[in-house]
Amino acid sequence: MSAPDISIRERIAVDRVLRSGHLTQGKEVQKFESHFSNFLAGRPCVAVNSGTSALLLALLTVRDILGGEVIVPSFSFAATANTVVLSGAKPVFADIELDTFNIDPHSIRSLITTKTVAIQPVHLYGLPANMNEILGIAKEFGLAVLEDAAQAHLAEINEKRVGTFGSAASFSFYPTKNMTSGEGGMIAFDSDEDARIARLLRNQGMEKKYENELVGYNCRLSDIHAAIGCVQLERLAKWTDKRIKNANFMSEGLTGVIIPKVPSGYKHVFHQYTIRIPDGSRDRFAEELQKKGIQTGVYYPKPIHQLSSYSSDLDLPNTRKACKEVLSLPVHPGLTKKDLESIVDNVNLIARAGS
Ligand SMILES: *Cc1c(COP(=O)(O)O)cnc(C)c1O
Repeated sequence: MSAPDISIRERIAVDRVLRSGHLTQGKEVQKFESHFSNFLAGRPCVAVNSGTSALLLALLTVRDILGGEVIVPSFSFAATANTVVLSGAKPVFADIELDTFNIDPHSIRSLITTKTVAIQPVHLYGLPANMNEILGIAKEFGLAVLEDAAQAHLAEINEKRVGTFGSAASFSFYPTKNMTSGEGGMIAFDSDEDARIARLLRNQGMEKKYENELVGYNCRLSDIHAAIGCVQLERLAKWTDKRIKNANFMSEGLTGVIIPKVPSGYKHVFHQYTIRIPDGSRDRFAEELQKKGIQTGVYYPKPIHQLSSYSSDLDLPNTRKACKEVLSLPVHPGLTKKDLESIVDNVNLIARAGS
């Protein structure tokens, strides 16, 4: 579904760092941050050792986070909510819109209390959440907006990139994401002061050696990882174009299944190409495709709030439905025309046989 594309360029970059003798948080990290910042309208960027660390440090810059409530979608990867718990706040789970799979602004509005301090929307599968509505609600109630952009590098709404909407935005460079650094993450801030706090928290609360201002973590990224990230970032735009082309090819050819919706003005970067199979046959569908040699994925089979780590009995109808119906097809830039034709033909065959 998502093998990383590592070329000779990444290998040369890593070798250069290894030979330099300077292995962690140095020039390569600085370069990675400044190149990433160039993609995000010059917002200050802070590189960390994972997308999870990015989410956590961004949350810790929010005023009154301790004991506060943060509204998150339950249809996401567990890190979206785990980081809220780890920051000392309480995740409050919102439902999604079934057609975009993203957090539903109506659900957000219904969950706001006097304790709410932030909204943490996810740009799931690479499709931006409805930032216009979400920013409106945040402004009305004085809330921070923290974008979980782990799956959405280069996604846009009306030519404005995700990562430039919220008070902070977190990206992941885990190997299955649209670009990788092996492990790694990046936070883009709208304020230099918040970026400074995150830099402190990343390194034991110290800017100057042994002059610790805060109690912090070790969330440093190594120069080895940053060097891989710099090369991948240069290759990202081309991969993204290919993902979009692959998605468009499938959307034009598929019949008998619900294809992903892209709202007008939105740029979906297709971290996942996710269809819905609404008649209860999703798992059988996946097995049939597997027999034809086509790998698929289910992101996510369980809502976060129903994992054993949360065990909430809350019912979120659209989230429940999505967990039963979603199926992600291969969309990665390594697919050939023949692969894509085979995916479309086989999905259409199975859909027709089942109806
Ligand atoms: C991958 C992912 C994360 C966590 O990123 P890591 O780099 O694996 O820590 C957070 N949120 C979402 C939505 C993700 O897909």
